[in-house]
Amino acid sequence: MIKFYNTLTKKKEEFIPIEDKIVRLYTCGPTVYDLAHIGNFRAYIFEDLLHRYLEYRGYKVIRVMNITDVDDKTIKGAKNEGISLREFTDRYIKIFLEDMEILRLKKPDYMPRATEHIKEMVELIKKLLEKGYAYYKDNSIYFSISKFPSYGKLSGIDLSKIKVGARVDADEYEKQDVRDFVLWKAAKEEEGVWWETEIGKGRPGWHIECSAMSMKYLGETFDIHTGGVDNIFPHHENEIAQSECATGKKFVNYWLHCAHLLVNGEKMSKSKGNFYTLRDLLNKGYNPIAIRYLLLSTHYRDPLNFTENSLKQAENTIKNYNEFYQGLNICAEEKYNPEIKKEIEKTREKFIEELDNDLNISPALSHIFNLIKKVNIYFSKGEFGKQNVKEVKEFLEDVDNVLCIIEKKEEFLPEEYLNLIKEREIARKNKNYKKADEIRNILKEKGILLEDTPYGTRWKKIG
Ligand code: AMP
Ligand code: ZN
Repeated sequence: MIKFYNTLTKKKEEFIPIEDKIVRLYTCGPTVYDLAHIGNFRAYIFEDLLHRYLEYRGYKVIRVMNITDVDDKTIKGAKNEGISLREFTDRYIKIFLEDMEILRLKKPDYMPRATEHIKEMVELIKKLLEKGYAYYKDNSIYFSISKFPSYGKLSGIDLSKIKVGARVDADEYEKQDVRDFVLWKAAKEEEGVWWETEIGKGRPGWHIECSAMSMKYLGETFDIHTGGVDNIFPHHENEIAQSECATGKKFVNYWLHCAHLLVNGEKMSKSKGNFYTLRDLLNKGYNPIAIRYLLLSTHYRDPLNFTENSLKQAENTIKNYNEFYQGLNICAEEKYNPEIKKEIEKTREKFIEELDNDLNISPALSHIFNLIKKVNIYFSKGEFGKQNVKEVKEFLEDVDNVLCIIEKKEEFLPEEYLNLIKEREIARKNKNYKKADEIRNILKEKGILLEDTPYGTRWKKIG
């Protein structure tokens, strides 16, 4: 039984999708005005884990990640550079898709662009006007929060302090500014971005974009909606208000939010300037799979403080993990150890048990590392055979459908080094340990470390 912590009910709840074995999932995507930073990628990696794990548990996942390509920030960015909004946002969408691939993020089924769904937004706003939840003011359209008694149910804001009729035009604002928010912004000459529509000449506010795009692809009520905790208010609160008032139905059953990636205890964000983009870290030579691992390995609801030191540790973990995965290959013995299979099955059960529990990733990983420790003991004692190699590798590949941290790259050694290793093995058989040590040292100087196992000598590159 899978359980998720639902921000709406503030409880861990059994996950029951609307349609058996199908999950409809909406994940708020990037605002494409700049490169995403690794704080943003913490949210996307949590969503990737959620997506992959639901599939691992046999669900068909229908997932939407929107692209906000029109809002205050994108318009400002395009204007500053003197290029069209399309040209400006295309650039950052391309980079975002590349970054997703580098971090092995699964591509959602739909990645709709806001500018291509203006019609759907206009329809939604028309409904809200017809039903009396929205009103015009200076050619812009606002949502009247006092008309929706359950406004605040997601974020738990105190509605008693609201000034009726006070409005906010900005896309982003703080809890103390809870007010009627903008659905449609009247065209401004200086912005130069608008659509001529039935509801007037203008452009959408940020919040209506996600309501329109999620309901278009997933229906009026769907299973899961996610984002970072900063999305709870006002963005998701406003999405609920718009959607539920327009349809009269519950919008989303489960709301999942990830905690922030921090730097020195503060949220990593563009505005604070304390951020690293993926490219900053790649330019410093860091392994992207280690970045993925670092952002993945802490529970999504726990804050995670980013340091380069923790990234270096993650690099070591990934290196050891992959050396273990590759290093098993040397064993070609016919013998079979039945204990290995039992350990694997116990580990698989625990892995599922932990992840079923609100994606409790850290202990799920610990169970895998414990298995590796046990396997290493059997291996070094020579109690291992080639069928065991296959079993262990198959298990790691199976959980890699969720984790995605195996590096399949094959490493090669020049012929002359391989010959030296063979020569050393002959020397060892003849008990010529002096020569064996000499060869070991020669290779060490070349950055190649040798390890003698019961199944022969294996090598790895250092540094
Ligand atoms: P934005 O492009 O600002 O709309 O953000 C995209 C996603 O990244 C949203 O789901 C945010 O909640 C999330 N996000 C932004 N900053 C952080 C951070 N420091 N840690 C985790 N998630 C973040
Ligand atoms: Zn959104």
